[in-house]
Amino acid sequence: MSGSFLQLREIDKSFSSPAGEFHALKSVNLDFSEGEYAGIVGKSGSGKSTLLNLIAGLDHPTRGEITIGNQTLASMNESALSAWRGKNIGIVFQFFQLMPTLTIVENLLLPMDFVNKIAAQERNDRIIGLLGEVGIAHLGNKLPAQLSGGEQQRAAIARALVNDPPIIIADEPTGNLDSETSMNIINLFERLSRNGKTVLIVTHDTSYESTFDRLVRLKDGRIVSA
Ligand code: ADP
Ligand code: MG
Repeated sequence: MSGSFLQLREIDKSFSSPAGEFHALKSVNLDFSEGEYAGIVGKSGSGKSTLLNLIAGLDHPTRGEITIGNQTLASMNESALSAWRGKNIGIVFQFFQLMPTLTIVENLLLPMDFVNKIAAQERNDRIIGLLGEVGIAHLGNKLPAQLSGGEQQRAAIARALVNDPPIIIADEPTGNLDSETSMNIINLFERLSRNGKTVLIVTHDTSYESTFDRLVRLKDGRIVSA
Protein backbone atom coordinates (compact mmCIF):
# COMPACT_ATOMS: atom_id res chain seq x y z
CA MET A 1 0.00 0.00 0.00
CA SER A 2 1.39 3.41 -0.99
CA GLY A 3 0.99 6.77 0.76
CA SER A 4 -1.90 9.14 0.36
CA PHE A 5 -3.45 8.85 -3.08
CA LEU A 6 -6.65 10.81 -2.64
CA GLN A 7 -6.75 13.90 -0.47
CA LEU A 8 -9.60 16.12 0.64
CA ARG A 9 -8.53 19.28 2.39
CA GLU A 10 -10.89 21.52 4.35
CA ILE A 11 -13.85 20.73 2.13
CA ASP A 12 -17.03 22.71 2.58
CA LYS A 13 -20.07 22.25 0.39
CA SER A 14 -23.13 24.42 0.69
CA PHE A 15 -26.30 24.49 -1.35
CA SER A 16 -28.47 27.58 -1.72
CA SER A 17 -32.16 27.17 -1.12
CA PRO A 18 -35.04 29.58 -0.58
CA ALA A 19 -34.55 29.00 3.14
CA GLY A 20 -30.91 30.08 2.87
CA GLU A 21 -27.57 28.30 2.66
CA PHE A 22 -27.51 24.64 3.58
CA HIS A 23 -24.10 23.33 4.67
CA ALA A 24 -23.96 19.72 3.44
CA LEU A 25 -20.24 19.22 4.22
CA LYS A 26 -18.20 21.07 6.82
CA SER A 27 -14.39 21.14 7.07
CA VAL A 28 -13.93 17.63 5.73
CA ASN A 29 -10.34 16.35 5.70
CA LEU A 30 -9.68 12.83 4.43
CA ASP A 31 -6.84 10.81 2.95
CA PHE A 32 -7.14 7.48 1.16
CA SER A 33 -4.30 5.31 -0.04
CA GLU A 34 -4.28 3.05 -3.10
CA GLY A 35 -6.10 -0.22 -2.59
CA GLU A 36 -8.02 1.01 0.42
CA TYR A 37 -11.46 -0.50 1.01
CA ALA A 38 -13.62 2.01 2.87
CA GLY A 39 -17.25 2.30 3.82
CA ILE A 40 -18.72 5.78 4.08
CA VAL A 41 -21.58 5.60 6.52
CA GLY A 42 -24.02 7.88 8.30
CA LYS A 43 -27.71 8.63 8.41
CA SER A 44 -29.68 9.78 5.40
CA GLY A 45 -28.89 13.45 4.77
CA SER A 46 -25.49 13.32 6.48
CA GLY A 47 -23.63 14.24 3.25
CA LYS A 48 -22.46 10.84 1.93
CA SER A 49 -23.62 11.28 -1.67
CA THR A 50 -22.39 14.86 -1.70
CA LEU A 51 -18.95 13.61 -0.68
CA LEU A 52 -18.84 10.94 -3.42
CA ASN A 53 -20.01 13.44 -6.05
CA LEU A 54 -17.18 15.78 -5.13
CA ILE A 55 -14.59 12.96 -5.33
CA ALA A 56 -15.93 12.01 -8.77
CA GLY A 57 -15.76 15.63 -9.90
CA LEU A 58 -19.50 15.57 -10.59
CA ASP A 59 -19.90 18.60 -8.34
CA HIS A 60 -17.47 21.16 -6.95
CA PRO A 61 -16.67 22.08 -3.36
CA THR A 62 -17.59 25.53 -2.09
CA ARG A 63 -14.23 25.67 -0.36
CA GLY A 64 -11.18 23.42 -0.05
CA GLU A 65 -9.17 21.24 -2.38
CA ILE A 66 -9.42 17.68 -3.73
CA THR A 67 -6.31 16.02 -5.13
CA ILE A 68 -6.28 12.55 -6.68
CA GLY A 69 -2.97 11.06 -7.76
CA ASN A 70 -1.32 14.51 -7.93
CA GLN A 71 -4.15 15.95 -10.00
CA THR A 72 -6.02 18.84 -8.37
CA LEU A 73 -9.62 18.58 -9.55
CA ALA A 74 -10.24 22.35 -9.50
CA SER A 75 -7.43 22.85 -12.05
CA MET A 76 -9.44 21.14 -14.81
CA ASN A 77 -12.24 22.60 -16.92
CA GLU A 78 -15.41 20.52 -17.40
CA SER A 79 -14.26 18.70 -20.53
CA ALA A 80 -10.85 17.85 -19.04
CA LEU A 81 -12.61 16.73 -15.88
CA SER A 82 -14.97 14.53 -17.84
CA ALA A 83 -12.07 12.84 -19.67
CA TRP A 84 -10.18 12.48 -16.39
CA ARG A 85 -13.24 10.92 -14.70
CA GLY A 86 -13.66 8.39 -17.49
CA LYS A 87 -10.12 7.12 -16.98
CA ASN A 88 -9.88 7.36 -13.21
CA ILE A 89 -13.23 6.76 -11.56
CA GLY A 90 -15.61 3.84 -11.96
CA ILE A 91 -19.04 4.73 -10.60
CA VAL A 92 -21.73 2.31 -9.42
CA PHE A 93 -25.22 3.55 -8.57
CA GLN A 94 -28.11 2.22 -6.50
CA PHE A 95 -30.38 1.81 -9.54
CA PHE A 96 -27.65 0.46 -11.87
CA GLN A 97 -28.28 3.09 -14.62
CA LEU A 98 -27.80 0.67 -17.50
CA MET A 99 -29.09 1.90 -20.89
CA PRO A 100 -32.33 -0.09 -21.34
CA THR A 101 -32.21 -0.44 -25.14
CA LEU A 102 -28.59 -1.68 -25.26
CA THR A 103 -27.37 -5.18 -24.50
CA ILE A 104 -25.02 -5.69 -21.57
CA VAL A 105 -22.02 -5.90 -23.91
CA GLU A 106 -23.12 -2.68 -25.64
CA ASN A 107 -23.55 -0.97 -22.25
CA LEU A 108 -19.93 -1.82 -21.46
CA LEU A 109 -18.67 -0.69 -24.86
CA LEU A 110 -20.10 2.80 -24.37
CA PRO A 111 -17.61 4.10 -21.76
CA MET A 112 -14.78 2.38 -23.66
CA ASP A 113 -15.70 4.30 -26.79
CA PHE A 114 -15.96 7.53 -24.81
CA VAL A 115 -12.59 7.23 -23.08
CA ASN A 116 -10.73 5.49 -25.92
CA LYS A 117 -8.08 4.09 -23.60
CA ILE A 118 -8.40 0.40 -24.49
CA ALA A 119 -7.51 -0.41 -28.11
CA ALA A 120 -10.61 -1.07 -30.24
CA GLN A 121 -9.56 -4.62 -31.14
CA GLU A 122 -9.14 -5.52 -27.44
CA ARG A 123 -12.52 -4.24 -26.25
CA ASN A 124 -14.66 -7.30 -26.87
CA ASP A 125 -12.22 -9.70 -25.16
CA ARG A 126 -11.92 -7.35 -22.22
CA ILE A 127 -15.70 -7.17 -21.84
CA ILE A 128 -16.03 -10.97 -21.98
CA GLY A 129 -13.30 -11.25 -19.33
CA LEU A 130 -14.91 -8.69 -17.01
CA LEU A 131 -18.37 -10.24 -17.32
CA GLY A 132 -16.75 -13.54 -16.36
CA GLU A 133 -15.07 -11.92 -13.36
CA VAL A 134 -18.39 -10.64 -12.04
CA GLY A 135 -20.10 -13.97 -12.77
CA ILE A 136 -22.41 -13.09 -15.67
CA ALA A 137 -20.41 -14.21 -18.72
CA HIS A 138 -23.54 -15.86 -20.15
CA LEU A 139 -25.65 -12.67 -20.08
CA GLY A 140 -23.71 -10.35 -22.39
CA ASN A 141 -26.26 -10.41 -25.19
CA LYS A 142 -29.29 -9.79 -22.97
CA LEU A 143 -31.00 -6.48 -22.35
CA PRO A 144 -30.84 -5.10 -18.79
CA ALA A 145 -34.56 -5.79 -18.18
CA GLN A 146 -33.91 -9.51 -18.80
CA LEU A 147 -31.52 -9.60 -15.81
CA SER A 148 -32.31 -9.76 -12.08
CA GLY A 149 -31.34 -6.80 -9.89
CA GLY A 150 -28.22 -8.55 -8.66
CA GLU A 151 -27.19 -9.44 -12.22
CA GLN A 152 -27.77 -5.85 -13.33
CA GLN A 153 -25.57 -4.61 -10.51
CA ARG A 154 -22.86 -7.09 -11.54
CA ALA A 155 -23.09 -5.69 -15.07
CA ALA A 156 -22.83 -2.14 -13.69
CA ILE A 157 -19.73 -3.12 -11.70
CA ALA A 158 -18.17 -4.62 -14.84
CA ARG A 159 -19.01 -1.39 -16.65
CA ALA A 160 -17.27 0.61 -13.91
CA LEU A 161 -14.14 -1.48 -14.55
CA VAL A 162 -13.94 -1.31 -18.35
CA ASN A 163 -11.36 1.49 -18.48
CA ASP A 164 -9.38 0.02 -15.57
CA PRO A 165 -9.79 3.06 -13.25
CA PRO A 166 -7.77 3.14 -10.01
CA ILE A 167 -10.84 4.26 -8.01
CA ILE A 168 -14.27 2.66 -7.73
CA ILE A 169 -17.01 4.56 -5.95
CA ALA A 170 -20.45 3.18 -5.23
CA ASP A 171 -23.45 5.05 -3.80
CA GLU A 172 -25.78 2.65 -1.96
CA PRO A 173 -24.98 -0.18 -4.42
CA THR A 174 -27.02 -2.69 -2.44
CA GLY A 175 -29.92 -0.36 -1.66
CA ASN A 176 -32.17 -2.07 -4.18
CA LEU A 177 -31.12 -5.70 -3.58
CA ASP A 178 -32.13 -8.47 -1.19
CA SER A 179 -29.73 -9.27 1.63
CA GLU A 180 -28.12 -12.38 0.12
CA THR A 181 -27.52 -10.69 -3.23
CA SER A 182 -26.22 -7.64 -1.37
CA MET A 183 -23.61 -9.68 0.46
CA ASN A 184 -22.41 -11.15 -2.87
CA ILE A 185 -22.08 -7.67 -4.32
CA ILE A 186 -20.20 -6.44 -1.25
CA ASN A 187 -17.83 -9.43 -1.57
CA LEU A 188 -17.21 -8.47 -5.18
CA PHE A 189 -16.20 -4.94 -4.17
CA GLU A 190 -13.90 -6.35 -1.50
CA ARG A 191 -12.19 -8.52 -4.12
CA LEU A 192 -11.63 -5.46 -6.33
CA SER A 193 -9.83 -3.71 -3.48
CA ARG A 194 -7.68 -6.80 -2.89
CA ASN A 195 -6.70 -6.48 -6.55
CA GLY A 196 -5.45 -2.94 -5.95
CA LYS A 197 -8.44 -0.68 -6.59
CA THR A 198 -9.32 2.04 -4.13
CA VAL A 199 -12.95 1.23 -3.33
CA LEU A 200 -15.26 3.68 -1.54
CA ILE A 201 -18.76 2.46 -0.77
CA VAL A 202 -21.53 4.62 0.62
CA THR A 203 -24.10 2.69 2.58
CA HIS A 204 -26.56 3.37 5.36
CA ASP A 205 -26.96 -0.37 5.92
CA THR A 206 -25.09 -1.11 9.14
CA SER A 207 -24.89 -4.87 8.43
CA TYR A 208 -21.82 -4.41 6.17
CA GLU A 209 -19.82 -2.15 8.45
CA SER A 210 -17.61 -4.98 9.72
CA THR A 211 -16.63 -6.01 6.17
CA PHE A 212 -14.82 -2.74 5.39
CA ASP A 213 -11.15 -2.15 6.20
CA ARG A 214 -12.03 1.35 7.22
CA LEU A 215 -15.17 3.21 8.17
CA VAL A 216 -15.64 6.90 7.52
CA ARG A 217 -18.59 8.10 9.56
CA LEU A 218 -20.42 11.31 8.70
CA LYS A 219 -22.85 13.17 10.87
CA ASP A 220 -24.55 16.40 9.74
CA GLY A 221 -21.82 17.04 7.18
CA ARG A 222 -18.89 16.44 9.49
CA ILE A 223 -16.53 13.50 9.77
CA VAL A 224 -17.06 12.02 13.22
CA SER A 225 -14.62 9.15 12.75
CA ALA A 226 -12.37 7.99 9.95
P1 ADP B 1 -26.83 11.34 2.09
O1 ADP B 1 -26.30 10.80 0.82
O2 ADP B 1 -25.94 11.10 3.28
O3 ADP B 1 -28.22 10.90 2.38
P2 ADP B 1 -26.69 13.87 0.70
O4 ADP B 1 -25.25 14.08 0.48
O5 ADP B 1 -27.49 13.43 -0.45
O6 ADP B 1 -26.92 12.94 1.97
O7 ADP B 1 -27.35 15.22 1.20
C1 ADP B 1 -26.87 15.94 2.33
C2 ADP B 1 -27.75 17.15 2.51
O8 ADP B 1 -27.54 18.07 1.44
C3 ADP B 1 -29.24 16.80 2.53
O9 ADP B 1 -29.88 17.59 3.52
C4 ADP B 1 -29.69 17.23 1.15
O10 ADP B 1 -31.04 17.65 1.17
C5 ADP B 1 -28.75 18.38 0.80
N1 ADP B 1 -28.53 18.45 -0.64
C6 ADP B 1 -27.87 17.51 -1.38
N2 ADP B 1 -27.82 17.87 -2.67
C7 ADP B 1 -28.45 19.08 -2.76
C8 ADP B 1 -28.72 19.98 -3.83
N3 ADP B 1 -28.32 19.74 -5.07
N4 ADP B 1 -29.38 21.12 -3.52
C9 ADP B 1 -29.79 21.38 -2.26
N5 ADP B 1 -29.56 20.58 -1.21
C10 ADP B 1 -28.90 19.43 -1.45
MG1 MG C 1 -27.13 9.54 -0.56
